[in-house]
Amino acid sequence: MLYQRSSQLFVEAEKVIPGGVNSPVRAFKAVGGTPIFIKSAKGAYLTDEDGNRYIDYINSWGPMILGHAYEPVVKAIIDRTQLGTSFGTPTALETEIAALAISMVPNIDKIRFVNSGTEACMSAIRLARGFTKKDKIIKFAGCYHGHSDSFLIQAGSGASTFGTPNSPGVTSGTAKDTLLACYNDLNNVSELIAANPNEIAAIIVEPVPGNMGCIVPKAGFLHGLRKLCTENNILLIFDEVMTGFRLAKGGVQELYNIQADIVTFGKVIGGGLPVGAFAARAEIMNHLAPLGPVYQAGTLSGNPLAMAAGYAMLKAINEDAGLFQRLEEKTAYLENGIREALTEANLDHTINRVGSMISVHFDAEQVTDFQSAAKGDNARFKQFFHGLLQEGIYIAPSAYETWFITDALTYEDLDATIAAVRKVAASL
Ligand SMILES: *Cc1c(COP(=O)(O)O)cnc(C)c1O
Repeated sequence: MLYQRSSQLFVEAEKVIPGGVNSPVRAFKAVGGTPIFIKSAKGAYLTDEDGNRYIDYINSWGPMILGHAYEPVVKAIIDRTQLGTSFGTPTALETEIAALAISMVPNIDKIRFVNSGTEACMSAIRLARGFTKKDKIIKFAGCYHGHSDSFLIQAGSGASTFGTPNSPGVTSGTAKDTLLACYNDLNNVSELIAANPNEIAAIIVEPVPGNMGCIVPKAGFLHGLRKLCTENNILLIFDEVMTGFRLAKGGVQELYNIQADIVTFGKVIGGGLPVGAFAARAEIMNHLAPLGPVYQAGTLSGNPLAMAAGYAMLKAINEDAGLFQRLEEKTAYLENGIREALTEANLDHTINRVGSMISVHFDAEQVTDFQSAAKGDNARFKQFFHGLLQEGIYIAPSAYETWFITDALTYEDLDATIAAVRKVAASL
């Protein structure tokens, strides 16, 4: 494939945008080469500025679960645009999407809409602190909750030591309130709680992590977190920005029958427009301004175009009784095909999958947390990524990302993908 126009566009972009991109992982730094500029997309396919076509496994990092330019969402946006694009006043549509989301997700009474997953998680933490009147939070190494200060904290040395910021600009004052735990390690969490008695406001977790590849929660881990939180007066925050409306209508709470205290959303909930949300039972949500003292606001929050897109998306998901079963079957088919191909080629690998989230790790050992995810053979991943790209298969340009499966994929697309994996694997 030729990327002349993409390369030229990247040169132009680098002059006026830091690194040429508005979000770092798009820059291909982890895999080398120059990023591809996409011109359009429809269903399961992307078309780039040079006219190359790809089967897409990024799907805007999750939102396009029903495929690109999904007709009901496109129509909802166009229709709504004619009526004005933003008012800064309440609209009927906000109540409609709130009621719909609450009807789909267990254990939430009220929801507030924001503009990104980052905002949702940042606000959820503030709310948890305001509600519990405690300051510290526990997060897990390798879990991503957006780019707000409290979450950009690297693995510390010992279980009870304070985290250190992993970005300049995050103060040590902020970092000291974020404690770092190891995913799938309940003992580690117990120790942190014991070392910080009555100081922890919340535990925030990607219940099924997708930002260190896909990680499968061990049996009892999430329920163990629930129990520890309840016993110690800590709020359990499920960051379902990736998993919400993807792994089940009601997200991981429904999938594993477990109750979180606060849930955050993003990605799918906006149908491809910038939307995030956080939700909880009324007792907690009533602490938010203007009802309560915890401040949170947004000029464009609940924007009519974004709400129209999100509503059309959630409605389509809600009314499609077979959706999650189809996604499960398609992704299982892909998983089996990839496994066969990598096994035939004698490549060490581990494939992790929950529903329509799947990741391929070039390591024979199980991948259960950030440490084991980081051990994968990155050089091999780079070759794999570029090999697939040449075959017209677009996966995320980082070994730490999951593939997002869309219902727009046909079995022919999946077969073509598996054939490409077989061809690339044989060349590694
Ligand atoms: C993508 C993501 C976020 C951040 O959402 P943005 O919309 O990119 O700000 C937060 N948490 C999880 C689990 C995510 O996958």
